[in-house]
Amino acid sequence: MKIVKFGGSSLATGESVAQAIQIILSDPQRQVMVVSAPGKRNTTDIKVTDLLIKYADLALKHKNCVEIVNKIFSRYQEIGHYFGLADAELSIIKQILLELPNQGYPNEKYLLAAFKAHGERLNARLITLILRHQGINSRFLDPAEAGLIVTGEPNDAIVNPESYLNLDQIKIKADERIVFPGFFGMTPSGNIATFSRGGSDITGAILARGFHADLYENFTDVNGIFAANPHIIEHPQSIKKMTYREMRELSYAGFSVFHDEALIPAIQGQIPINVKNTHDPSNPGTMIVPEKDFVPDNAITGVTSQKHFSALYLHKYLLNKEAGFTLRILQILYQHNIPYEHMPSGIDDITIIFNNDFLNDQLIDQICNEIQATINPDQLKWIEDYAIIMVVGEGMRQKHTISRQIIDSLGDHDISPQMINQGASQISIMIGTKKEKADEAVKIIYQKFFN
Ligand code: ASP
Repeated sequence: MKIVKFGGSSLATGESVAQAIQIILSDPQRQVMVVSAPGKRNTTDIKVTDLLIKYADLALKHKNCVEIVNKIFSRYQEIGHYFGLADAELSIIKQILLELPNQGYPNEKYLLAAFKAHGERLNARLITLILRHQGINSRFLDPAEAGLIVTGEPNDAIVNPESYLNLDQIKIKADERIVFPGFFGMTPSGNIATFSRGGSDITGAILARGFHADLYENFTDVNGIFAANPHIIEHPQSIKKMTYREMRELSYAGFSVFHDEALIPAIQGQIPINVKNTHDPSNPGTMIVPEKDFVPDNAITGVTSQKHFSALYLHKYLLNKEAGFTLRILQILYQHNIPYEHMPSGIDDITIIFNNDFLNDQLIDQICNEIQATINPDQLKWIEDYAIIMVVGEGMRQKHTISRQIIDSLGDHDISPQMINQGASQISIMIGTKKEKADEAVKIIYQKFFN
């Protein structure tokens, strides 16, 4: 059996929903369809999820919501009409939308989560109506009924392992299609909580593990995952096959086609993932598979950069002999609730790399002052506009010259890395550069290994 997830851009219009249905019907193994909320129809359009966030905001302020409800409903109505559904059949969607502010919620965060979740919940209902209208045996299965239990923050939930036991109990008939809304689950007390944005990928992976699927197909609007960002490299190659680990490293560093949290259930269930294009379903897309027996085609699978970092460089002679040096730095960071991303070190120096999202000027001054006073380094330098280039590939484990080749080719273009860190897994190399050099570095590395 296959779990097939469709993203919002694959379900934005009647035409694209028709394509998705055709994909489902073309393979009897495609029994479970996980749906996102309708996404953007064009670049200036607004996703239904974002309209629902607006609706939640207006409802919380007790403002008039007629216009926003009509706007949201019209998205579903447009798709329903495309398939010849009558307004009477669609009225349930409007009713549910109108009722949303009148349900009880423990607090504003839960209210927001419930509003957001209805983008997928109503879409799954709509698609079930469409399938039935076409005479297809189909069933809407809600996370509440399926026992998809989540804990954590109402808008950043995590799956509870009990869900897998519950999903295991669900019976699916051989000739039946299940339509399951992505993006949310139910808390132990019976409230809705959503995953982080883009979280329908996570639902797909949870169902793939819970239903012991043979394959998790993830349909988006591109031909799989590219080896580099198409905004930096013109027409980059798409990756045919990669391992879970490679995907994990690349999504950490900015590959956003597939939600990184969605990898975990797939890894736990050892279920291969196939990222495919709804508008070009015969294209093989990208397979993401277990590491066992994986034979890489290339030394490098992908290269990417992230630019939202800064770094603190500290130099002190005989640092390697001083017990507790790093501990004292970490204590200072901990007191200010600042996480760090990486901490490469040498015999006399250490660089601490931070995600800028957790910093502001005042905090930077404060931690630098405290570190100077407590540790008394010989040199303390704050490096702003730091970028990290990530080169990932299982193939690097066999080839030991990759880091030298990377450094040489960057050097040929006058880029001298500020930090090089090869992960213990040996499948990734992290290179720190100034932000303004990041795109050029990605181009150089891509040219070197892919052309
Ligand atoms: N609709 C949600 C979002 O826009 C979840 C998803 O599409 O996966 O984030």
